[in-house]
Amino acid sequence: MPLPEPILAGLTSIVGPEMVLTRPEDVIPYGFDGTAALRQVPAAVVFPRTAQEVSHCVALAASQSLPIVTRGSGTGLSGGSVPGEGALVLCLAQMNEILDVDARNLTLRTQPGVTTLAIDEAAARHGLFYPPDPGSMKISSIGGNVAENSGGLRGLKYGVTRDYVMAIEAVLPDARIVRFGSQCVKDVAGYSMKDLFIGSEGTLGIITEVLLKLVPRPAARRTMLALYDRIEDAAETVSAIIAERIIPCTLEFLDRMTAVCVEDFAHVGLPTDCDAVLLMETDGHPAAVADESERMTAIARAHGAREVRVARDEAEALALASARRNAFAALARRKPTTILEDVTVPRSALATMVGFIAETAREHRLDIGTFGHMGDGNLHPTFLTDERDAEEMERVHHALDAIVTKTLSLGGTITGEHGVGLAKKGWLRQQMGDSSHELMKQVKRAIDPAGLFNPGKMFD
Ligand SMILES: Cc1cc2nc3c(=O)[nH]c(=O)nc-3n(C[C@H](O)[C@H](O)[C@H](O)COP(=O)(O)OP(=O)(O)OC[C@H]3O[C@@H](n4cnc5c(N)ncnc54)[C@H](O)[C@@H]3O)c2cc1C
Repeated sequence: MPLPEPILAGLTSIVGPEMVLTRPEDVIPYGFDGTAALRQVPAAVVFPRTAQEVSHCVALAASQSLPIVTRGSGTGLSGGSVPGEGALVLCLAQMNEILDVDARNLTLRTQPGVTTLAIDEAAARHGLFYPPDPGSMKISSIGGNVAENSGGLRGLKYGVTRDYVMAIEAVLPDARIVRFGSQCVKDVAGYSMKDLFIGSEGTLGIITEVLLKLVPRPAARRTMLALYDRIEDAAETVSAIIAERIIPCTLEFLDRMTAVCVEDFAHVGLPTDCDAVLLMETDGHPAAVADESERMTAIARAHGAREVRVARDEAEALALASARRNAFAALARRKPTTILEDVTVPRSALATMVGFIAETAREHRLDIGTFGHMGDGNLHPTFLTDERDAEEMERVHHALDAIVTKTLSLGGTITGEHGVGLAKKGWLRQQMGDSSHELMKQVKRAIDPAGLFNPGKMFD
């Protein structure tokens, strides 16, 4: 449904004609993200370049009760940036400037459209480090990362996006520009509103600037692969490493199907005949790295690893880590539709959960490859399917429901990092309970009474 002419004229006068898209062939790419089987063509797409332009666009849309969907790079995996019918997409890809790297205070100030990789590269030029590294980091925007509170491969040791956000600037549904947080290491003034906006999936405010904390870049790193004939042994290795008081930066898991697809795609020498592969990485002071990698190797062997390989050099380490980052792309080559799920359980329940996913795949006659951030208990069961096959999709939905329900029964969460969006909102109340769910809706209504920002996401 096209936008009425006066609104288009208003948007054009705010951002300029070259920053407004309305032709169907131009707006179609902004109608979906990385989530399978969810798409809706937006009414128009606008590319603001400043917080003021965002605010003016919001004021105009609000005056016409026009819903707004904020978009970063569109790599989301819960349908967060998929527009509702007739919605205006505000794409922040043009707000792509790093504003300041303060090497004395260890901070970086940036616009929201900068990619996650570019943030870490800018930090690296000063010998500093921005640890959160979602698998999509070459493309995902920092605004999207904050809106989803994204995690990554290094989350076990370094935490997630929230742990690095010191302050944000955001535009509210009534067009006010607000700032929360500060550049002080300690700041307990008032409610921590920035924390409310982190992970709010574009439903409360449009993030227009972020102040990030940086840390010193680790001096050394070692990457290892442990190969197992039994998935349970890989899960137990993870528990044993943590129990030994070692917190590696990465403990990533790939099951046999994922390892086969990744090897077929990336040719990095991953074995294709074992049931589980653990990618383990430790970083920090060279002496600590040497000690931890030795102990992790011994623990892996003691828990049934049939082989532990240590990357010979930085190039091999990088190849192994990027092979893992390519797991989604590698699996996606197998079938027309790839549904990448995101459930997290307490680490002690990992072996049970991985076993349950395999059993569910057999029971429902489905191809499910599982990989994930095993050190965080965060698994990505990935359904390889075909959305044109209605009967198979029915089985996918039953299997997915069984996996999510099992996750909750083990004390887990319906999403460890991809967010609720459209894909998971049906299960949110089940996890939160009625009172907590209602309180969240009250918060949404308090900040966005007209329901203008990302309507239909997170809640019905
Ligand atoms: C191959 C692949 C690997 C991935 N690996 C990981 C991973 O390891 N860890 C992980 O956590 N995620 C992962 N993801 C999911 C995704 O990349 C993250 O959720 C990422 O943070 C989304 O960023 P984006 O810029 O693409 O946001 P989008 O997809 O454009 O938007 C995501 C959500 O954020 C909102 N939003 C975007 N920008 C803003 C803003 N400036 N202000 C307010 N709201 C905003 C949108 O409305 C939407 O609700 C992966 C995705 C892919 C495709």
